[in-house]
Amino acid sequence: SSLLKIEDLRVSVDGTPILKGVNLDIRQGEVHALMGPNGSGKSTLAFALMGHPKYEITGGTVEIDGVNLVDLDPNERARLGLFLAFQYPVTIPGVKVADFLRHAVTNVRNPDRKEGENLIPMREFRKELKGKMEELGMDLEFARRYLNDGFSGGEKKRMEILQLAMLNPKFAILDETDSGLDSDAVRVVSEGVARLSGSTEMGVLIITHHERLLEFNTPQFTHVMLAGRIVETGDASLAAELHNQGYAGVRERHPEAA
Ligand code: ADP
Ligand code: MG
Ligand code: MG
Repeated sequence: SSLLKIEDLRVSVDGTPILKGVNLDIRQGEVHALMGPNGSGKSTLAFALMGHPKYEITGGTVEIDGVNLVDLDPNERARLGLFLAFQYPVTIPGVKVADFLRHAVTNVRNPDRKEGENLIPMREFRKELKGKMEELGMDLEFARRYLNDGFSGGEKKRMEILQLAMLNPKFAILDETDSGLDSDAVRVVSEGVARLSGSTEMGVLIITHHERLLEFNTPQFTHVMLAGRIVETGDASLAAELHNQGYAGVRERHPEAA
């Protein structure tokens, strides 16, 4: 199986160091949760993994099976098997969910094709989409909706999970820290990740404040970030501790970072 290896990663924003040496190994098939107080650098890690130009990597490496990603553009990272949920935050008028997914899937599977050429055959694509939607317990009608047109919080997350299922990357990074998640959205993500990690070999890093996001998909590993470093790694009981008691205990155990 593949390995996503983050080693001594250092990231600055506008010249200010934010990540100060992050180490994290994720194998395919594993679910990892990343938690930590607001401002600790969780989203910075997600943006840096995505290759966002504002997030300057000043040291360290991010490798998939030994290939360093830090100098690659977001498309090349996607081809190596990395999926970032917010990589596709599009609203294209007149484009339906199914059309969008057919293009997205084609681009990842056949990156050298020219625009307009060689989309995955419709019949094959429909069959695959139907299978995935059934597996995820989704109403097939959803594929006929116009993309992001009046989507509720839960529907946006349904779209995200369906994309994940169709693209089936080696590794998925989901930054779900947004406090705007309603309970339907939380359930869609939690259940969706659980189903995907059960039925695929995907490695998942889910970044969250919400312990409920971890309800269905109990992570094998929970990491805590404080001040730009991962200071603790534990199992699901660490996520529960953080949920029940907050970060006071972690800060006490790591006065150098608090
Ligand atoms: P978290 O996701 O854990 O809440 P962030 O990664 O969003 O933390 O932020 C970490 C630190 O980096 C904060 O001090 C924040 O103010 C700063 N930061 C993050 N992104 C930017 C940005 N685009 N411009 C300026 N500062 C930023
Ligand atoms: Mg934040
Ligand atoms: Mg954040």
